[in-house]
Amino acid sequence: MTRRVVVVGGGITGLTTAYRLRQLLPDAEIAVIEADHQVGGKISSSPFAGLDGIDEGADAFLTRIPFAVNLAAELGLTAQLTSPAVGSAYVWWNEMHNIPEGLMLGVPTDLVKLAKSDLLTWPGKLRAALEPILPATGVGADSVGRLIRHRFGKQVHERLVDPLVGSIYAADTDRFSLSGVTQILDLASNNRSLLIGARRARRKAPPAAGPIFGSPRTGMATLTNTLAQSLRASGVTITTGCRVESIDRSGAGWLVNGEFADAVVLATPAKTTAPLVAPLSPDTGATLAKFDHAGVVMLTIALPGDTWPADYAARSGYLVPKPMQKWVTATSFASSKWAHWQPTTPEGGVILRISLGRDGLDLTDQPDDKLIDAALSEVGAHVGLDLQPTEHRLTRWPAAFPQYRPGHAKRVLGIETALATDAPGIFVCGASYKGIGIPACVQQANSSAQGVAKYIGVVLS
Ligand SMILES: Cc1cc2nc3c(=O)[nH]c(=O)nc-3n(C[C@H](O)[C@H](O)[C@H](O)COP(=O)(O)OP(=O)(O)OC[C@H]3O[C@@H](n4cnc5c(N)ncnc54)[C@H](O)[C@@H]3O)c2cc1C
Repeated sequence: MTRRVVVVGGGITGLTTAYRLRQLLPDAEIAVIEADHQVGGKISSSPFAGLDGIDEGADAFLTRIPFAVNLAAELGLTAQLTSPAVGSAYVWWNEMHNIPEGLMLGVPTDLVKLAKSDLLTWPGKLRAALEPILPATGVGADSVGRLIRHRFGKQVHERLVDPLVGSIYAADTDRFSLSGVTQILDLASNNRSLLIGARRARRKAPPAAGPIFGSPRTGMATLTNTLAQSLRASGVTITTGCRVESIDRSGAGWLVNGEFADAVVLATPAKTTAPLVAPLSPDTGATLAKFDHAGVVMLTIALPGDTWPADYAARSGYLVPKPMQKWVTATSFASSKWAHWQPTTPEGGVILRISLGRDGLDLTDQPDDKLIDAALSEVGAHVGLDLQPTEHRLTRWPAAFPQYRPGHAKRVLGIETALATDAPGIFVCGASYKGIGIPACVQQANSSAQGVAKYIGVVLS
């Protein structure tokens, strides 16, 4: 009997789940249903400043966690991958400051290097220097901000860890679970001192040579578009522009928008997953409905290059810590970061990607002109220029970043356990659950596909 699996959501998680399912269940019927008119979800690239694929959302994936880079290799994209030309960034605290060397996601691993930084004051540095002698801090509070402030003091939190982690996940680290930043969680769980633990970890396993980030030269959407092409070529159906509104029981299986499936993978954000599972598992639906998501806006601008300060060419951009923030949280000097993003318009120039908004500062409903004016005036003040873009593009990402509140890992375990009992054959995965970055989404997709294959092979047979 031919089994049928429906994957809801055509972001990186849903597409990768379908790709793995095709490998594990070569005879099954596999369908992906995507609400949007294109696949990719938070991955989207489009033409800008005469270039083909300038990213509107994610612009890279971590390569030191192997899942995304391995997927790219399987899809034949290795030769197309490139990495940032420059790595180091600034923090804007009344002026541009270099980020001190020797940090691990903002956590200091070297007090001498920290002492050389002018981003922290001497009292801030001295407070950080106490960390190695403090008694252990438990991870029970499950708050990145609380842990870091307790260990290193206010300045390391406010000027380093919160801007770094906060800009990656649009998060307020005081309300962000350690399970969202597993490197810090592992350090805090296994060591009394985070600083000594991080140093020891680096000595034992020095970072592998080679770039930390990768991205296809033609933009991140090349990854999701190539996945979609490969899926279609292997007989997987992908329906776009179709929102899944209902899932109902049907014998040992399920009806997804009225069509039968033996198993269903919901690779959709928690908030949109909640109403789908609520009729099947009310507790799960209620838990998912409480997940928070942060919206962000990305303004991409092209500027004439003649006035752009030469110093900035060696930097990937800068972060704005919360006490210094109005609307702008970070700016990527995108055409310095990516050597192939040089505008081909006659006037040449530079491209910046300006991020606005975060958890607790949702700007996605603000009118275009207010967003653009705020971005140009704030960034202009930061870089000391009157910004006159030759081109701009505004991308709104409402509810884009799931916010892992303290207790997140336990909640996710509860969801998985309840679903297995209340709705066997329904699986959830994606950025809302076990990691927000693209490699973590790919890893979750790999596991979900294995879970579905096992369910079909063992439970249903
Ligand atoms: C601006 C921005 C920058 C980022 N930068 C990076 C980065 O540089 N590196 C990195 O690793 N990560 C980055 N991220 C995070 C990363 O891109 C996302 O976490 C990841 O792409 C999420 O993938 P996903 O498939 O889990 O979810 P999504 O991409 O959200 O996909 C879910 C899909 O489900 C669809 N859907 C929802 N409900 C339904 C329904 N009822 N029926 C059918 N379809 C439905 C949606 O339309 C969507 O396409 C960034 C995110 C943003 C927003």
